[in-house]
Amino acid sequence: MIVESPLQRGFCYTYPMDIQENVSLGPLTTFQIGGQAQFLITVHSQEELEEAIIFAKAKSLPKLILGGGSNILVSDSGFEGVVIHIHLSGVELEEDTLIAGAGEQWDALVERAVTEGLWGIENLSAIPGTVGGAVVQNIGAYGAALSEVLRWAEVLDTQTGDVTRYTNEQCLFDYRNSIFKQNPDLVVLRAAFNLSREPKPNVSYKDLAALFSSPPRLGEAGSSLNLQAIREAVIGIRKGKFPDLSIEGTAGSFFKNPILPKAEADALKVQYPEMPLFAMPETAGVKVPLAWLLDHVLDLKGASVGGARLFEKQPLVIAAARNTSSNDVQELAEKVKREVKEKLHLEIEPEVKII
Ligand SMILES: Cc1cc2nc3c(=O)[nH]c(=O)nc-3n(C[C@H](O)[C@H](O)[C@H](O)COP(=O)(O)OP(=O)(O)OC[C@H]3O[C@@H](n4cnc5c(N)ncnc54)[C@H](O)[C@@H]3O)c2cc1C
Repeated sequence: MIVESPLQRGFCYTYPMDIQENVSLGPLTTFQIGGQAQFLITVHSQEELEEAIIFAKAKSLPKLILGGGSNILVSDSGFEGVVIHIHLSGVELEEDTLIAGAGEQWDALVERAVTEGLWGIENLSAIPGTVGGAVVQNIGAYGAALSEVLRWAEVLDTQTGDVTRYTNEQCLFDYRNSIFKQNPDLVVLRAAFNLSREPKPNVSYKDLAALFSSPPRLGEAGSSLNLQAIREAVIGIRKGKFPDLSIEGTAGSFFKNPILPKAEADALKVQYPEMPLFAMPETAGVKVPLAWLLDHVLDLKGASVGGARLFEKQPLVIAAARNTSSNDVQELAEKVKREVKEKLHLEIEPEVKII
C-alpha cells in the first residue's frame, strides 16, 4: 500500500495546532525590527510542515520559510501570508558524517563537531541561524564555506510533495547562493556533513594567520593548532567584528562582496593599490572587499539613516538600534548601493533577504 503524505494527498485531516495570527516578526529575527506576520506556524516535523503548506494553499496566501531569522529584514508592513518557522530537530553521527535537522542551531552543530574531534566546520563557528538557513545561504567565513563539506541535503518539494536527497553538485552552490535560494518551493529538512578525523587546519585567512603565525607541528599533544583553539580564535575575532545582538540588531553583512573576473579586479587594484583581493573557496572569480571600499574610498563607515548605521568596525554590516524602522535600514542600504554605483561603477546586491 502506498501511503501518501499530506501534500501528495492534497489535504490534511487536521491543521497543525500551533497557528498564531498577527504575530510580530521582529523578535524572530536578529534585526529585531519589522511588522507582523498574518499567520505564524511553528513546525516540528515534516508532516506538520506539509500541513502548514496546505493551510497556506487553502487560504491562497504566500508562504515564507523562517529559520533563525539572521539573514532576513522584515519590512515595516510585515508579511501578508503564512510564515512557517522551522523547528525540525535531531542530530546523528554516522562515522565521520554529522546529520542534522534543518531547525538545529548551526553553531551548536559546530560545537558538537569540535567536541567529537571532527574537522571541517570549525572556521564557521558562531554564525547565527539554523542548519537549514546555513545550507540555503551556503554560509562562509574565514576561508571556509559550507559547500566544501555538505554531503547531501534532504529536501521537500512543496509543489509535488516529493522528498529528495540533493547531492552537493545538485545544490548548485555558489557564493551565498544555492538552488534552494533560487527556488523557494524547496524546503531543506535535514543535511549531512562530511567531516574528517584527520587534522585539517585552515588558518590561512589573514585574521587567523595572524593568531597562528608559527603553527606548531600538528597532531602533537598540547599543539595549539587544535580544533578547540581554532573555534575559540574564530569566536574571539567575530566578537570584535559584529554588533552585540543583545544591544542592537543586525543580519551580519548586509551586502554581498562583488565577485569580479580577475582582469576587472586587477584593473580596480591598479586604481586602489592598497585594496586587498581574495580568492574564495565557494566561487570562481575574485572577491572585492566591499567593506574596504566603503571605508577607504567612499568614507561611509558610520553613515546613518535614523537608527540604522554602517557598523564602525565593519561597514558591510548594518546595525539597527532598537525601535529603528525597517524603512531606515532600507534607505541606508539604497544610499550605499547608489554611491557604490555612482563612484565605483559596481553593482552590489544585498545578502540579506528583504521581506
Ligand atoms: C551577527 C551575524 C553574523 C553573521 N555572520 C555570517 C558569516 O560570517 N557568514 C555567513 O555566511 N553568514 C553570516 N550571517 C548571516 C546568517 O547568519 C546566515 O545566512 C544564516 O545561515 C541564516 O540562517 P537562518 O536560519 O537565520 O536563516 P533565515 O534568516 O531564517 O532565512 C534565510 C533564508 O533562508 C530561507 N530558509 C531558512 N531555512 C530554510 C529551510 N529549512 N529550507 C528552505 N529555506 C530556508 C529563508 O526563507 C530565507 O530566504 C551572519 C548574521 C549575523 C546576524
